[in-house]
Amino acid sequence: MPAPGAVPLPGRDPGRRRKGAPGRPGSDADRQRTQRTQRSRRQVFNREDIYQGAARAGRGRKRKMSSRKGAKTQLTTPAAHKRVVRVDGTISVGQLGQEMGVKTNELIRKLMGMGVMATMNQQIDVDTASLLATEYDYEVKNVEFDEDAVLSGPADAQKVEADPDAVLRAPVVTVMGHVDHGKTTLLDRIRKANVASGEAGGITQHIGAYKVQVGDGKSVVFLDTPGHAAFTAMRARGASVTDLVVLIVAADDGVMPQTVESINHAKAAGVPLVVAINKIDKPGVDPERIKQELTKYEVVPEEWGGDTMCVPVSALSGQGIDELLENLALQAEILELKANPKKEAYGRVVEARVEKGRGPVCTVLVQEGTLKQGDYIVSGDHYGRVRAMLDHTGQRLKEAGPATPVEVQGLNGVPSAGDGFHVVKNEKDAKRVVSSRTDRARAQRSSTQGANAADLLANMGKVDKEVQNLILKTDVAGSYEAIRHSLEELGNDEVEVKIVHGGVGVISESDVTLATASEAKIIGFNVGPDTNAKRAADQGGVEILRFSVIYDVLDTVRDMLSGLLTPETVEEHLGKVEVRAVFHIQKVGAVAGSFVTEGKVVRGAHARVFRDGKLVGQGRISTLKRFKDDVREVATGYECGLSVDGYKDVQEGDTIEVFDLKLVKRKIDD
Ligand code: GDP
Repeated sequence: MPAPGAVPLPGRDPGRRRKGAPGRPGSDADRQRTQRTQRSRRQVFNREDIYQGAARAGRGRKRKMSSRKGAKTQLTTPAAHKRVVRVDGTISVGQLGQEMGVKTNELIRKLMGMGVMATMNQQIDVDTASLLATEYDYEVKNVEFDEDAVLSGPADAQKVEADPDAVLRAPVVTVMGHVDHGKTTLLDRIRKANVASGEAGGITQHIGAYKVQVGDGKSVVFLDTPGHAAFTAMRARGASVTDLVVLIVAADDGVMPQTVESINHAKAAGVPLVVAINKIDKPGVDPERIKQELTKYEVVPEEWGGDTMCVPVSALSGQGIDELLENLALQAEILELKANPKKEAYGRVVEARVEKGRGPVCTVLVQEGTLKQGDYIVSGDHYGRVRAMLDHTGQRLKEAGPATPVEVQGLNGVPSAGDGFHVVKNEKDAKRVVSSRTDRARAQRSSTQGANAADLLANMGKVDKEVQNLILKTDVAGSYEAIRHSLEELGNDEVEVKIVHGGVGVISESDVTLATASEAKIIGFNVGPDTNAKRAADQGGVEILRFSVIYDVLDTVRDMLSGLLTPETVEEHLGKVEVRAVFHIQKVGAVAGSFVTEGKVVRGAHARVFRDGKLVGQGRISTLKRFKDDVREVATGYECGLSVDGYKDVQEGDTIEVFDLKLVKRKIDD
């Protein structure tokens, strides 16, 4: 169980797993849908991979595809006594073989024939399993539990737009900036000012988020888990809850490394910025200088023709704070953030911990719908019933609508920050979701990572440029610029390098979190990670590469890019045979008594049958015999008996070309 607020490992939430796709406010559902597709692409081979693979496997795409289809129809016809394999979402190649009584190697070979490299433990999806199963006259039945059918979930942006029940909601804001520039002071100031006006006594509780009123009925939600750790950690889970970032810059200090980092975090997440130039109460400070500095990072103030609001404030004296809040509300109006309060609630966990006497307690940001006391809830691997809800003033609530942070009691465990928070109809559904999630997580842990092959293949079908995200840290500014420039020049029209963040200094924990969020690798040039960064990288499986020679950096990144290139399928000629007689053998069917005139014939290899120089059929060599014995291969000058799977009409005088298909990695310089 991760500590509250700890950076969660990717994929911790088995239900809605991460993918750091940049998220515009309101597009949560879209993002989740793509996440889900991407997830299945990455971890599980699907039918598309196979078609892509098959398309590449032949020189002529059309011919290959149609002949494959032809083969399929032949094999699927007599389906009177089809046997059934039940698949729970995905199944490993080995398990499928077992269920059908087929050797795993044979299945692996079949998959290879379709252009998919899979290991025995590789999970394949229902469609892929069906394709394989039909070849053995099996039918695949998907018995996966569909948790989306019982969970409350985010509506996609277009639906919200068209939903007559959708109303404007408050924006959710994260404050980011360099250490000591005033994040905590600002958040405290805003919270206290608000509470003092509304409540007697002004006691506030830290629950990780709070909502403040801004003038005529408008409100703004602040996440006050300070710093960018929470923001990025959530984004690492694909859970961008932030609509706006307040970038705080101390006027007496200016743009500092973490300021730049914050800008990059916000940009990477596609979240608009509002700049608060802080500490303007100090004598001799010049807000204009700060604006000037910010332009270097493509943050251009509105008054200078850009699109970023800059508000001078003093978190200490309170000067400018109201104006900042009004500006946030204004920005939110531009974004037109909407949600339907009449649905069952859906949200995200902001913070969670176990409290003595209260049990697991978590702060949830309700994003849509209305959460009610007594609702059955599911989050991560945990479920329960809302026993009590408190707001940040310690007041008990019976209901919480969209864009409301509440502290919820009643889950049976502690979820992680960023986990989805769903309402279900009853306890039975809640238990089913959790048990299906735990099963799935277990299945995934047990499947070994055919990572390289999987990555290769996941990359196969994509048309867009593949991007290698990098974080570059160096010891001096000169080498940073030089390396960055050279790295960015490395790409071609298929792949490119994107430096999502970088600068001078040691590799920090925040660099590692950003790397997780953007699926980046970290490059340290004459610098290494500090202790926290090293631990976070080990935990999160983030790769940190260290160098002291520029050429080595370039070579390594060139190799990375080569790895992103779609591999090429190359045909390797194995041999040629002449058919001298055709026999009919019971069970096997037509066997071509042949003579190997060139190279060799190998069982399982691909074959093309030619008659009078014309291609008449193709398939795999399914039987290969020397006299009565099955053999693996037969060399030049020998006779053999063979049959071609998928082509039964071999005739005397035909020639058969035998070949293999190999996936060959390409190099970026090719
Ligand atoms: P954080 O690290 O960004 O959370 O920064 P803090 O909020 O802890 O502030 C760092 C220091 O700056 C503290 O000593 C604050 O009192 C001081 N500080 C914050 N805001 C202001 C301000 O508007 N004016 C002045 N003079 N000092 C400030």
